[in-house]
Amino acid sequence: MEVTAHDILLIGGGGAGLRAAIAIAEANPRLDIAMVSKVYPMRSHTVSAEGGAAAVIAPNDSLDEHAYDTISGSDWLADQDAVEIFVNTVTQEMLRLEHWGCPWSRQPDGQIAVRPFGGMKKERTWFAADKTGFHMLHSLFQTSLKYGEIKRYDETFATKLLVDDGAVQGVVAIELSSGKIRAITAKAVILCTGGCGRVFPFTTNANICTGDGMALAYWAGAPLKDMEMMQYHPTGLPQTGILITEGSRGEGGWLVNKDGYRYLQDYDLGKPTPTPVLRSMELGPRDRLSQAFVQEMEKGRTLKGPYGDYVHLDLRHLGEKKIDEKLPMVRELCLNYSNIDPVHQMIPVRPVVHYMMGGVSTNVNGETPLKGLYAAGETACVSMNGANRLGSNSLGELLVFGARAGAHAAQYVTGAPEPSARLLAQAADEEKRINREYLNRTSGGERVAVIREEMQHAMESAAGIYRTRKTLEEGAVKLAELKQRFMAVALDDHSRTFNTQLTSVLELAGMLEIAETIVHSAIAREESRGAHQRIDFPKRDDQKFLAHSLAYGNAQGVPRIEFAPVTITRWPPGERVYGR
Ligand SMILES: Cc1cc2nc3c(=O)[nH]c(=O)nc-3n(C[C@H](O)[C@H](O)[C@H](O)COP(=O)(O)OP(=O)(O)OC[C@H]3O[C@@H](n4cnc5c(N)ncnc54)[C@H](O)[C@@H]3O)c2cc1C
Repeated sequence: MEVTAHDILLIGGGGAGLRAAIAIAEANPRLDIAMVSKVYPMRSHTVSAEGGAAAVIAPNDSLDEHAYDTISGSDWLADQDAVEIFVNTVTQEMLRLEHWGCPWSRQPDGQIAVRPFGGMKKERTWFAADKTGFHMLHSLFQTSLKYGEIKRYDETFATKLLVDDGAVQGVVAIELSSGKIRAITAKAVILCTGGCGRVFPFTTNANICTGDGMALAYWAGAPLKDMEMMQYHPTGLPQTGILITEGSRGEGGWLVNKDGYRYLQDYDLGKPTPTPVLRSMELGPRDRLSQAFVQEMEKGRTLKGPYGDYVHLDLRHLGEKKIDEKLPMVRELCLNYSNIDPVHQMIPVRPVVHYMMGGVSTNVNGETPLKGLYAAGETACVSMNGANRLGSNSLGELLVFGARAGAHAAQYVTGAPEPSARLLAQAADEEKRINREYLNRTSGGERVAVIREEMQHAMESAAGIYRTRKTLEEGAVKLAELKQRFMAVALDDHSRTFNTQLTSVLELAGMLEIAETIVHSAIAREESRGAHQRIDFPKRDDQKFLAHSLAYGNAQGVPRIEFAPVTITRWPPGERVYGR
C-alpha cells in the first residue's frame, strides 16, 4: 500500500477546509499540508450558498446585537464564548476575503451592501448577488493556490481515521480514479467534511452532504454534539428540494397560503406592514417559520401538489429589475427547475431539511476530545448555532472557526509525536475490510439504494419538524433493523475506476450511524427548543436541558447519550420574542 506522510491533513476542500489550509500556511510556511477531498474542491457544497454571510459593518449595528440575535435565535443553546469570538472576528474575515478577491455587492456610494435576514435585528448580511458561496469558494480556492505547500488529493475518499495511542494520526483513503487504497499519515487531522442533510429524503443539501466526517469521528470515539438539532429551511422547491434563498424574503418576499393570506401573522411573528420589519413575519427565524407551515397544513390552508403540501412565496411586487439585480439565481432556478417565472408567478415552496446545527464536538479552537483531531465548518459543533442557526451565520462560521482550527493545529503539531509505524497494520486491515465487505462480495440480498431510501423515510417520520417519543422510538427500531440488513449489502459494480456504488455504500454506512445519533439524542431531550419540537414535551425546560447532548458510540451499537452544560457569558436565558 502506498503511504504518504504530512504534518497536517485536512479532510474536505470546501469553505472551512480551504480557510483552515490558508491559516496553517500563514502560521508556519514550513509545515507540509495535505488536503483530501472526495470531489474537486470547487464542487463542495459551499459553492451553492446563495443568500449571504452576516458580519457587523453598518454604522447603526453593534457586535452585541449580532451576538444577542445569534443567542436568542439558538434558543439559548449556543455557547456564548464561541458566539462572542465569532461576532468579534467575522467582519475582519469578510474584509480579508474581499482582499482575496471576493466581489461583495455594494451600495451606490461604494459601501458594502447588506440585506436583512431572518431573526436578525439589523441589516448585516453581506452578499455577492445571490451567488455568495460560489464567489467565496472561488476566492478561497485561488488564494490557496498561492501556497505550494498545500498538496491536494482531489477525488479521494477518506474511509477511516488512523488512531494510535489515543492520538489521531492520519486516514485511509481511496483514490477514486484508480480505486487504489492508500494511507495518508499526519500529526493532526482537521475534519471539514460539511453537513449531513442526505440522511433525510427531502433536502437542499447536495448528494455529497452525507456527514462522512461525523461518522469518522464517531467511529474513532469522539462524541457528536446536539445531533437532534436538524434545521428545516422554510422555502425549498417541492420536487427537488432546491433552496430558494432567505435573501428573497430579505428583499421583501411574502409567504401566502392557499387563500393568498400572509399566514405568518397568526403565529406570533408580527403583523404585515407596508415595508418589511426586521425579526418580523417573513423575517422571523427558520424554526418558527417551518413550524408555522406544519400548523397551517393541519388547518387545511396549504395547497396540495404531486410532491406534498406547499405554500406560495410571492416576489411579484418586487419587480423585474430588483429580482434580476438582487436575486438572479432565484429566477434562474425557478425557471429551470419549476418552469415558473417569479416576476409574474408565485413560487410553490415547502420546508426542507437544510442544516445540521450539531456535529463533532469541539472547543473554540476546533479541538475535539480526541488528541490530534480537529473539526470546523458544518461538520463541527463548536457550538455557536445551538438549537437553531440564523441564516447567513454559517458562511462566517466556517471562516472564523476554520481559521482558528488551522492556526491551532499548526501550533499543536510542533510538539506532536511522529506517526507510528503501527498505523500501517491498521491501514492494511481497512483495505482488507473494504475488499471483503464491498468489492469482493458477490452475494447478499440487500441493495444500497433500498436501505438508503428506507432510512431517509424513517428519519422524516421519526425526527421531522415535530417529534414525539413514539415516532422517535419507532424510528430507532427501524434504524436498528436497517443496520442489521446493511450487513448483507452487496454491490453490482466491483470495478475499481470511479466506482460510485462503492462511495455510496461507504456513505450509507456512516449515515446509518448519524441517523441513530439524531434519533437517540432527540429521545433523550425531553423538551422543545429551537428545531427540536417534542409534541409530548412542548415547553423549553432550562432546569434540565440548558445543556448540550453528546452522543458516544458504544459496543451495544446504540449511542450512549450524555449532557454537558452550555456556556453562558453575558446573556441569561430569556424569552424569544419576534414581531414586537
Ligand atoms: C443550498 C444551500 C445554500 C446555503 N446558503 C447559505 C447562505 O446563504 N449563508 C450561509 O451562511 N450558509 C448557507 N448554507 C450553509 C453553508 O453553505 C454550509 O454550512 C457551508 O458551506 C458548509 O461548508 P463546509 O466547508 O463545512 O463544507 P462543504 O462546503 O460541504 O465541504 C465539504 C468538503 O468535505 C469533503 N468530504 C466530505 N466527505 C469526505 C470524505 N469521506 N473524504 C474526503 N472528502 C470528503 C467534500 O469533498 C468537500 O470538499 C447553505 C447551504 C446550502 C445547502
